[in-house]
Amino acid sequence: MKFTDYPIVPEIKKAISELGWNKPTDIQFKAIQSILDGEDVLAIAQTGTGKTASFVIPIIDKIAKSKHKYKSNGISALVMVPTRELAKQIEGVFKEIGKHTKVRPMAILGGVEQDYQIEQLRGKVDIVIATPGRMFDLISQGHLVVSEIRTLVLDEADHMLDLGFIKDIRDLMKHIPQKRQTLFFSATIDKDIKKIAYDLVRNAIRIQISPKNPVAKNIAHSVSYVEMDDKRFFLENLVKENENKKIIAFVRTKVRAERVVKAMERVGIQAEALHGDVDQKKRFSILTRFRNGENKLLVTTDVAARGIDIQGVEAVVNYDLPDVAENYVHRIGRTGRGKDKGWAISFCSKEEKNYLLAIEEFVGYKIAEYGISKDDYEAIVEESESQNYDWQKLMAQEDLWKSKKKNK
Ligand code: AMP
Repeated sequence: MKFTDYPIVPEIKKAISELGWNKPTDIQFKAIQSILDGEDVLAIAQTGTGKTASFVIPIIDKIAKSKHKYKSNGISALVMVPTRELAKQIEGVFKEIGKHTKVRPMAILGGVEQDYQIEQLRGKVDIVIATPGRMFDLISQGHLVVSEIRTLVLDEADHMLDLGFIKDIRDLMKHIPQKRQTLFFSATIDKDIKKIAYDLVRNAIRIQISPKNPVAKNIAHSVSYVEMDDKRFFLENLVKENENKKIIAFVRTKVRAERVVKAMERVGIQAEALHGDVDQKKRFSILTRFRNGENKLLVTTDVAARGIDIQGVEAVVNYDLPDVAENYVHRIGRTGRGKDKGWAISFCSKEEKNYLLAIEEFVGYKIAEYGISKDDYEAIVEESESQNYDWQKLMAQEDLWKSKKKNK
C-alpha cells in the first residue's frame, strides 16, 4: 500500500511526498484506515515506529474535509502528551503534514507566556497538542473550548501515568464530549495502562507493533563490558571514530552528564549536556545546535531526552545502563527513526550487570555482546588523549618540581 492509495485529501499526499515518504510504516498501515473510518484505536507502539503520523494524517484529513461544512468555536482534536518536547514535536508533524491545508495546530505548553497563547487561541485553532497543566488553566478560564472535540489522542500514555497525570486524564473527560473518537497510544502495556485504556476507548481496534521485540528492527544494538572508570576513554574513541556523526550518550544523573561533557571537552570533543536543570530556553538552543549538527555529541539523562525526535542520530551510547529496564527501549529509540538505520551500544560495568539482566528480560532476549579483546581494551585506554594530557601535566609538574628544587 502506498500513501497515494489512501482516500485522503491531495494536500496531505503532497506534503507526505515532499517529506520523501513512500510507504506507510507498520503502525501507519494498521492505524490510518481505521482512524479514517472513525474507529477508536488502542495501539502499543514505541517511538520511532512512525506512530505520530499514524494519527496526524487521518486527523488532518477529517478536519480538512469537514472545514467548509463544520463551523465551530472550539477545537476539533486534542492530543494530550506527557512532555513539552513531545508536544512541540507533534505540533511540528501536524504543521509539516498539514502545510498545504488550512488546518491549524497549536501546542499549549507551560513555561511560556500565557497571553500569547490566549491570543493564538482567539484565531482559529483546530487541533491542540498539550501537556496537562497549562491546558487546564486555559480551559478553566474559558480560553480553550474543548466541548466540541471529536477526536482525543493520548500519546505515550504509559509515561503520563508514570508522571502521575492519571487524575488529569480523568478530569479532562468531564470537559469533553462522551461521543468522540479516542486514540490511545502507549509504548508499553501493563495492568494500569489497560485499565485506563479500556475506560476511555470503545470497541477499539487493537494494534500492537513488534510485541515480542520492543526494539525497532532497524536498530542494531549490543553491549560491551567496560569498567566504570574507563567509560570515558571508550566514548572518546567511539566519537573520534565516528567523526561528523550525531551521537547521543545517556547517563544516569545530571552530575554525571556534566562530568562526561567536561571529560570530552578535555580531549577536544565538543559536547553539550541536557538534563533537568537546564532551563527551557537553553534546552531549545541545545537541541537546535544538535539538530543542525553544530554540536555532534549530546550527553543526556532519561527524563531530559524523553520524546525528542532528531533526524539522523547515528548512534546511541548507553554510557550508564538505565536502572529502569524500559528506558533502554526509549533511549535506543532515538536512533533508527522511521526507516533509517541506527545502532546503539551499552557500556556495562561489573556493577551494572543486574541492570543488563533486567533489560534482557524486558526485551525478551539476550543482547549481543560487542566483544573487545584485552589488547584492544588496553589500547583504547592508553590511546586516550586524556592520558596524554595527564602525562603532559605530570611531566610539567615534574619539571616545575625539579626547577623549584634547583632554585632552592
Ligand atoms: P515517531 O514514531 O512518530 O516518533 O516517528 C519516527 C520518525 O519516523 C520520524 O522522524 C518521522 O519523520 C519518520 N517517519 C514517519 N513515518 C514515516 C514513513 N512512512 N516513511 C519514512 N519515515 C517516516
